[in-house]
Amino acid sequence: MKTCKRCRKKRADVVLSGVRFCSSCFIEYFEKQVQRAINGEKLGVQMFSKDDRILVAVSGGKDSMSLWNVLNDLGYETCGFHIDLGIDEYSEASRRVVENFAASKNLDLIVVDLRKEYGRSLFELAARDACSACGLVKRYLMNKVAHEENFSVLATGHTLDDECATLLGNLTRWNLEFLRRQHPVLESTHPKLVRKVKPLFRVTDEETAAYARIKQLNYVREKCPLARGATSLSYKNALNELERRHPGLKKAFYLGFLRNKALFGSDEGFELKECEACGMPTANVGRCAFCKLLERSEQ
Ligand code: SF4
Ligand SMILES: [Zn+2]
Ligand SMILES: [Zn+2]
Repeated sequence: MKTCKRCRKKRADVVLSGVRFCSSCFIEYFEKQVQRAINGEKLGVQMFSKDDRILVAVSGGKDSMSLWNVLNDLGYETCGFHIDLGIDEYSEASRRVVENFAASKNLDLIVVDLRKEYGRSLFELAARDACSACGLVKRYLMNKVAHEENFSVLATGHTLDDECATLLGNLTRWNLEFLRRQHPVLESTHPKLVRKVKPLFRVTDEETAAYARIKQLNYVREKCPLARGATSLSYKNALNELERRHPGLKKAFYLGFLRNKALFGSDEGFELKECEACGMPTANVGRCAFCKLLERSEQ
């Protein structure tokens, strides 16, 4: 029997990058990584404390469901936030997962149904470029709800893999504006902009999958039918190949970026305006991108 490298007693049932863990040591390791992120290790700023009310964005996928579960297990006060995008069975299944989880743990959940609130599904809002519209809709609604419901912080389930893929994408395009804004803690820069944090930034997709499996979390396994060969997936695959040859590369890449972030300059002095239609913060003069999207879909 192969034993856990940590306790050297129990049978190892998780093997990650050649390291064997038993289930309880792995959960301990995972929770410790999340707690280190929340405490602000390597960030110089704490994400939140037990006094905060945290709105957790949950799509129903493995990462966001793991995030909600681990924050709840660590004793934080959370409420889930889900957007029903109206993408047929995929959205129905996602919503069911999230609602069942909230009910089973007796947790609060806020659901915004795009069709009910705005009269159209994501596909009807933007058939041609659904994924970029989806990102815009999610960012807008997450912040709007967090602000209106007085949450002090909004948490999303971005993992180390997500952050590394975004970083690689931003670097290959030398997108300095995005590089300046990429961070696991985005402070509020406007009274209507809620602080955003990524407590899973120290754990990989693979580790999150192992966590969800051991905790027997239910999550949506089918892919969104609107997904088209996302570029981030090819970056993830390339980084996984590099990680296989050079273990620890992803963490070194991302933590090195955080240490050297100042090289890309800062957004200080940049002032957000308020949308003339909805009043939410925007970089645009006039209407925000969300209101423009609604307007375009009416034409
Ligand atoms: S695949 Fe695209 S449209 Fe579907 S949930 Fe993801 S971002 Fe949204
Ligand atoms: Zn063990
Ligand atoms: Zn607006």
